[in-house]
Amino acid sequence: MKNEKTLEDTKEYVKRVASTRGWILHNNEDNTLDMLVDGLTRYFNNVGYYNCPCRDTFEDFKMDRDIVCPCDYAEPDIAEFGRCYCALYFDSKFDFSESIEMIQERRPDIDY
Ligand code: SF4
Repeated sequence: MKNEKTLEDTKEYVKRVASTRGWILHNNEDNTLDMLVDGLTRYFNNVGYYNCPCRDTFEDFKMDRDIVCPCDYAEPDIAEFGRCYCALYFDSKFDFSESIEMIQERRPDIDY
């Protein structure tokens, strides 16, 4: 497929987003970053956009717009919890020696 993304393309994309927003990426100590980059790449190549790798998709950009990465919820989650829902992006001062707890889903309930 012509517009297919590679893992390297997606890595560059998330690095660029982090740098633009003043965030940092998961330190990948347990391969979380690799798994999320893989999930984003798969979604891009299946549905045509970077759907959030830890949420379901409608496979319809308009329906998924709020969860196209970086999602609408990343900014408030990082401000409140220091990380986005998937633990891809973090506040620049996040201390990775602390455990990374699950956070509550901020997106309103959606029926798929
Ligand atoms: S939760 Fe994180 S990885 Fe998922 S879409 Fe939002 S910013 Fe991207």
